[in-house]
Amino acid sequence: MEVKEVVVVVKWSGKEYKIVDLTDQDTVEMLRHEIYRKTQVRPERQKLLNLKHKGKPAADNVKISALELKPNFKLMMVGSTEADIEDACSLPDDIGDVVDDFDDAEDRDESVENSAVYLAKIQRRVRDYKITELSKPRAGKKLLVLDIDYTLFDHRSPAETGTELMRPYLHEFLTSAYEHYDIVIWSATSMRWIEEKMRLLGVANHTNYKILFYLDSNAMISVHVPERGVVDVKPLGVIWALYKQYSSSNTIMFDDIRRNFLMNPKSGLKIRAFRQAHLNRSKDTELLKLSQYLRKIAINCKDFSMLNHRKWEHYDPKKS
Ligand SMILES: [Mg+2]
Repeated sequence: MEVKEVVVVVKWSGKEYKIVDLTDQDTVEMLRHEIYRKTQVRPERQKLLNLKHKGKPAADNVKISALELKPNFKLMMVGSTEADIEDACSLPDDIGDVVDDFDDAEDRDESVENSAVYLAKIQRRVRDYKITELSKPRAGKKLLVLDIDYTLFDHRSPAETGTELMRPYLHEFLTSAYEHYDIVIWSATSMRWIEEKMRLLGVANHTNYKILFYLDSNAMISVHVPERGVVDVKPLGVIWALYKQYSSSNTIMFDDIRRNFLMNPKSGLKIRAFRQAHLNRSKDTELLKLSQYLRKIAINCKDFSMLNHRKWEHYDPKKS
């Protein structure tokens, strides 16, 4: 299938926003999601005035290719951001993160992973996303990709200092992992936020390990899942395309949200979320246990894609 990139300019509140992250194979629902990423106007609040299909307002399931948009098409939108809406303060700001996971679902079918539309989006990230290396990749190392929020750090509990919100054994974990793995941090937030948190936690300039680079929300892509709608995910293909030494055979990714692995279900390990730091600081030993798992598979397993990370606690090198 041939996939074409589509650029739409949205006019809203007297400003223009360029939506570049679309292909003609995406749907109106995806367009709305991308508009949301740019403007913070939630899809259900967007009124897209001149988006028509067969003379009627275009429904969410209509493909962009069917809209026959002219080059330099300008889409007129009316809508309010949550911040502008009175009842916004009653909504938790991470509602999407917490509620919308795939815990109840089995691993997704591979069609999502291989779909031409998503591969095109990954290509665009590979082309346009600028990675700033903080250290150099080391020969023969495997790759560990880590989420921040609720994985390494609890950003929502009350605390006096950043270190109180740090997951216990974080530095021990990173020191141990560094022996066999190059380490990448990937968070669905902004680069500024990531840099600040990593400095605050003392990760940015630790003497026992180095971070290879950080990735932020702009390296993520949006995918459409039939029963869930559009969600943002972290496709490892972005890293694998730029760093050929890493692949599904030597990469593992930790996240407390399973849907972030949607493009790479076999490479993801869903870590138990670290929440309520003030209550759990003294008992959480997840990172210690995971250190041992990382060490064992690095030494014993030639191909990580053969592993089932859902059963990481029962991993036995003799049986695999
Ligand atoms: Mg998280």
